[in-house]
Amino acid sequence: MVETADIIVVGGGCIGASIALHLAERKAGKILLLEKKELANGASGKGIGIIRTHYTHPILAELAHQSLQRYHQFPERYGGYDAGFHACGYYILVGEADVETLHQVVQQHQSMNINIDLVKLQHVQEKVPHLNLTNVAAAAYEPDSGYGSPPQTTRAFAKRAADLGVEVRTQTPVLDIMVDSEGIEGVVTPTGKIATRTVIDCVGPWARKFTEQLGLEFPVTPVVEHVVVVERPSEFAQIHPVVSDLVNLCYMRSDAEQPLTRIGNSDPKYHPQFSLKDADDFKGQLFENITEELHKKLLHRFPILEEGKVVDTYSGIWGVTPDYQPIIDKLEHLPGLYCAVGFSGHGYKLSPIIGELMSQYVLGATNDLVNQLKLFRFGRFQENNLVKSPISYSQAKGLR
Ligand SMILES: Cc1cc2nc3c(=O)[nH]c(=O)nc-3n(C[C@H](O)[C@H](O)[C@H](O)COP(=O)(O)OP(=O)(O)OC[C@H]3O[C@@H](n4cnc5c(N)ncnc54)[C@H](O)[C@@H]3O)c2cc1C
Repeated sequence: MVETADIIVVGGGCIGASIALHLAERKAGKILLLEKKELANGASGKGIGIIRTHYTHPILAELAHQSLQRYHQFPERYGGYDAGFHACGYYILVGEADVETLHQVVQQHQSMNINIDLVKLQHVQEKVPHLNLTNVAAAAYEPDSGYGSPPQTTRAFAKRAADLGVEVRTQTPVLDIMVDSEGIEGVVTPTGKIATRTVIDCVGPWARKFTEQLGLEFPVTPVVEHVVVVERPSEFAQIHPVVSDLVNLCYMRSDAEQPLTRIGNSDPKYHPQFSLKDADDFKGQLFENITEELHKKLLHRFPILEEGKVVDTYSGIWGVTPDYQPIIDKLEHLPGLYCAVGFSGHGYKLSPIIGELMSQYVLGATNDLVNQLKLFRFGRFQENNLVKSPISYSQAKGLR
């Protein structure tokens, strides 16, 4: 007899695990979360984990704000499990060209009750004396923001989902999707077919490949994202706030438990060079020169780290769309297929609220926030109507 399920979530990253959990909270029936390898095998395994609200698009800012609140109450909200969240604060540094934009974004966010303020450079210097503010013209600060651990959060969502009855199956790739005249009929795994009328595609950077046999072209490119980790010297051992450097186009954060600072790239010019044809081609490779450049940028902002040792360089992949925004939708031409993929650099911070909204959407609930998800519809690429912020920073594109 063929196994059946009410809903199958494919992909055990933070997005799929969060959606499965929230569906279980809503008692959506028999739910399977199928992951081809281990949980957090993709982007969620290597993410640097910054959680902030600073987005120029008000809908993204609102989603990030909602998620941030959930990170603050993570164990209470999600069955006692921990996301590794630290509210160490978040600085945004901009150059002369972006001062006006920063002012506009801060004003917009304050009108949305987001806790952010413009701060004088002298104040930043007092708070983080080792930060070099040369070429910075203005700064803002989010005291409630910080970072968490994406793999730990993914596992926390999955454990909570399992507590609520979800069957979490790792080492279970979905090899094929079966369709009949009504739409989705089921999925094929190495251990057999599973019949279902609802599949939620959360395969992240694998999105293009996953539905290619159905003739569904997801414009999601797997892009390699690099991280350099430096040990801080003893005179700078204390945790420092996250720094988003929109002048040098990079982001930096410290670890709470050890004196390490991590830096990643936010310069979109590199993304075409670092893209892969297939997410399966990702083997942890490092592209030439980028880790050296990130290290230089880190030393520019924190000259004291000249004394620190590079203790690690690594990479992960993320699934990038042409406007750097996710694709969240119900695929009308294939009834029963939903997707939440292509989160680019935003997926971790957004995962709690996306799980919640997506579970409502799939179960037919509507409210203001669920309706806002239309911004991320699949059809925007065919309509040539990409997500565009009313205001934008000079160089950071959709990443901010
Ligand atoms: C270095 C780096 C830094 C980042 N920094 C941040 C940050 O500071 N803040 C932030 O918010 N985001 C950040 N991101 C982005 C964030 O990590 C991603 O947006 C997020 O993890 C996406 O989660 P996901 O669940 O959509 O995809 P993934 O985590 O990639 O999960 C997809 C899963 O699907 C599985 N899968 C694929 N095909 C199949 C199949 N056929 N059957 C079953 N399973 C399948 C994969 O194995 C994988 O586990 C960063 C990413 C990287 C790499």
